[in-house]
Amino acid sequence: MGSWKNLSKEELSSYKQELEKKYEEIKNLGMSLNMSRGKPSPDVLDFSNGLLGALENYHTKDGTDVRNYGVTTGIPECKELFSGLLDILEDRLIVGGNASLSHMYNIYSILYLFGPPGFEPWSKLPKVKFLCPVPGYDRHFAVSEDFGTEMVNVPMTENGPDMDVVEELVKNDDSIKGIWCVPLYSNPEGVVYNDETVRRLAQMETAAPDFRIFWDNAYGVHHIYDEYKIADIMKLADEAGHPDRVYYFFSTSKVTFPGGGVGLFASGEANIKQMKAHIGKQTIGYDKITQLRTVNFFKTPDGIREHMKKLGAVLRPKFDLVLDKLEEEFAGTDLLTWVTPKGGYFISIDTMDGCAKEIIAMAKEAGATLTGAGATFPYKKDPNDKNIRIAPTYPGLDELEKTMDLLSVCIKLVSIDKLLK
Ligand code: PLP
Repeated sequence: MGSWKNLSKEELSSYKQELEKKYEEIKNLGMSLNMSRGKPSPDVLDFSNGLLGALENYHTKDGTDVRNYGVTTGIPECKELFSGLLDILEDRLIVGGNASLSHMYNIYSILYLFGPPGFEPWSKLPKVKFLCPVPGYDRHFAVSEDFGTEMVNVPMTENGPDMDVVEELVKNDDSIKGIWCVPLYSNPEGVVYNDETVRRLAQMETAAPDFRIFWDNAYGVHHIYDEYKIADIMKLADEAGHPDRVYYFFSTSKVTFPGGGVGLFASGEANIKQMKAHIGKQTIGYDKITQLRTVNFFKTPDGIREHMKKLGAVLRPKFDLVLDKLEEEFAGTDLLTWVTPKGGYFISIDTMDGCAKEIIAMAKEAGATLTGAGATFPYKKDPNDKNIRIAPTYPGLDELEKTMDLLSVCIKLVSIDKLLK
C-alpha cells in the first residue's frame, strides 16, 4: 500500500469511511477475545498431563521422602536435571517454589533489607536505581516500583540492551544497582542477546561494587523457529572477577504448568550462602513432590528439549499467523513497525507516536482485550505511546485471526485520524 503520509486528505477520508464500516461490522459480532497475557493454551497444557501421575515413587535417590518436610534447596535429581539443561553448577543452584517471579521478589527484598553480602542494605541508601531495557516485562518493573527503586529506561536493540548506554550509565553512577534482563527471546520483542552483549554485561565496570544483574532466562528453552543459545553469563562474570554479579532465574511455568511447576535461581557462592540462610528461615521445604514428578516425567535435559519441540510446533502457526497478517496489512506503510521475534511468547509492535492507547481502547470496545498500553515500560509510561504487546499463545488460530483483523482495522483508523490532524 505504500506510505500513508503521502495520501491526500480525500483519500484518507474515503478510506476512513470504509474502515469505520468494517469496525462497526466487527463490533456487532459481539466478540469476547482476550489476548492480554502470555499464557499457554489448553492444548499445550495437555502435553504435560503425564506430569500429574508421574509419581511412581516417593523417595529421592538419597532416600528423602518427598511427601515430608525437609530439603530447602532442591532434591538432588532435580538439581541435576536443571544443571544439565541450563549449564549451571549444581552447588550454585537452588530449586524452589514454582514462581521464578517470587524468587526475584524475595532476592530483591533481601537486598533491600539486609544488603548484598558485605554491603549496606539498599533501603539505607538515599537512592537506588535500576536499568530497565525497554520495551520490557511489566512484572519486573512492578517489583522495582514496589521498593521505590528509580527505574531508568535503556533502549533495546536487535542484540539486547544498548550496551553503550548501559556502560556509560553504570560507570558513572553508583546509585545504579542493577539491571533487568530477559536474555533469550526477550519479553516482548523476542530478541536474543548476542555474545558481545552478554560479555559486556559480565565484564563492565560499574561504579556500584554491589551491582546486580537479574538474569531472567524465562524463555531459555522456548524455541519456535531456530534454536538460539546465549553465552554463559555466570562463567563470564566469574572470569571477569564478578562471581556474585548475576542472579539467574528460570522456571517450568511455560514448560509444564504455570503455578504447578518448579522455579529456580542460581548465583555466586556468597549470594547462594546468604540466600540459603534466609530461605532456611522462610520454609521447611518447598514442594518436593512436584520436583520429583518433574524429574520422573522428563528424565533428562533432552527429555525437556524434546517436549519443548512439541510446544514450539503448536506456537509456530500462531506466530506465523500474526506475522503474516502484519506483513499483509502493514508492510511498506509507515503505520507500524515490528520486531520479528526469534522465539518466546510475544510479538511487539510499534504504532505511530501517540496511537497505542487509543488503538487498544478501540479494540476493547469491539470485544478484544490486549495488554494495556504502556505496560511494557516502567511506571506504565510509554513516552511515545506507541508500543503494543501481542500475546498469541493462548487463543486458537480462529480467534487469533479475528483479533488480528480487528486490531488491523483499529490501527488504521487511529492512524488516519492522526494523519488527518
Ligand atoms: N519472567 C518473564 C520474562 C515472563 O515473561 C514471565 C511470565 O510471563 C515470568 C518471568 C513469570 O515466571 P514465573 O511463572 O516463573 O513466575
